[in-house]
Amino acid sequence: MNTLILNERQIDTAAAIIRKGGLVSMPTETVYGLAADALNGKAVADIFKAKGRPMDNPLIVHIADISQIYSLVREFPDNAVKLAETFWPGPLTIILPKSDRIPDEVSAGLDTVAIRFPLHPVAQKLIMLSGPLAAPSANLSGSPSPTSAAHVISDMNGRIDAVIDGGDCEVGVESTVITLADEIPRILRPGGITAEQIRQVIGETLIDKAVTEPLGKNEAAASPGMKYKHYSPKANVILIDGSDEAFADYICHAKDDKSAALCYNEEKETLPCLCIPIGAKGDDLAYAHNLFAALRKADENECTVVYAHCPTKEGVGLAVYNRIVRAAGFEIVRL
Ligand code: AMP
Ligand code: MG
Repeated sequence: MNTLILNERQIDTAAAIIRKGGLVSMPTETVYGLAADALNGKAVADIFKAKGRPMDNPLIVHIADISQIYSLVREFPDNAVKLAETFWPGPLTIILPKSDRIPDEVSAGLDTVAIRFPLHPVAQKLIMLSGPLAAPSANLSGSPSPTSAAHVISDMNGRIDAVIDGGDCEVGVESTVITLADEIPRILRPGGITAEQIRQVIGETLIDKAVTEPLGKNEAAASPGMKYKHYSPKANVILIDGSDEAFADYICHAKDDKSAALCYNEEKETLPCLCIPIGAKGDDLAYAHNLFAALRKADENECTVVYAHCPTKEGVGLAVYNRIVRAAGFEIVRL
């Protein structure tokens, strides 16, 4: 298969591919998605094949107008309406009881469906032309999510019909996923909309244990995606929790063949390895924006080890922590 690279003026071509049951990668404000017609079970099954994604990991359905939600879910409870009114369009995914229109391939056999209304104008236009789209991140399963069309091509060239190049993604990490299935709302995956922002709208909201900790052997994942190793570059990620001096000292004393550091801008010239800047110290939004591109850059440079600062668990920092602690296999070097 020859993968077309389309520009933002060729969304009609992308929509025609989707309507015929094909796969198109689209830019969103979070990461690039790999989209198919959400109501076409065969097309959705092809997403899993192209990514090598386990079939038990359900997909998010993307809409571009609130009115599209009513035929996709059985209930749209008050808290969901409040969240939608406040944060849509934007990086928030809400899990709701699914209607019969949702193919089993999308929900991976669950009775619920994850819905999001993205902010990116290209994603919105594509959805308006082709209907609701099922779309996970457009990377090979397990590797860092793509935040540029070049990342998509690097993983998916020859495996999908097309990618629309819409430049770099603004947020850089995937959407926040929240379930309203239990009495108290619960965040299953942190993202661009923070727990603090959500609590201001609907009050008490829990953060699922699997956000920050590995699942025990016999524990079921509320969000199936949480049980897989994820977001990993080929390089071994070493996550360091300590002062900047201790971070630098640790790297100086490590004897690796080829290492990189995800460093603060201020540290760029000071570390004895390839320095890949992830923003100014304390800027969680920049860390989120740059994280996946930085991990991919370490691989492009054939690094075997990549050192990273442990982010805070506050605000968007929690989303960065959730991704990078998985990339590091839940091991943290505490100095
Ligand atoms: P991705 O599509 O790669 O951004 O991942 C979507 C995330 O949402 C994964 O962690 C899925 O397991 C999770 N997810 C999607 N649908 C559901 C659902 N119905 N119930 C629980 N988690 C879901
Ligand atoms: Mg993904």
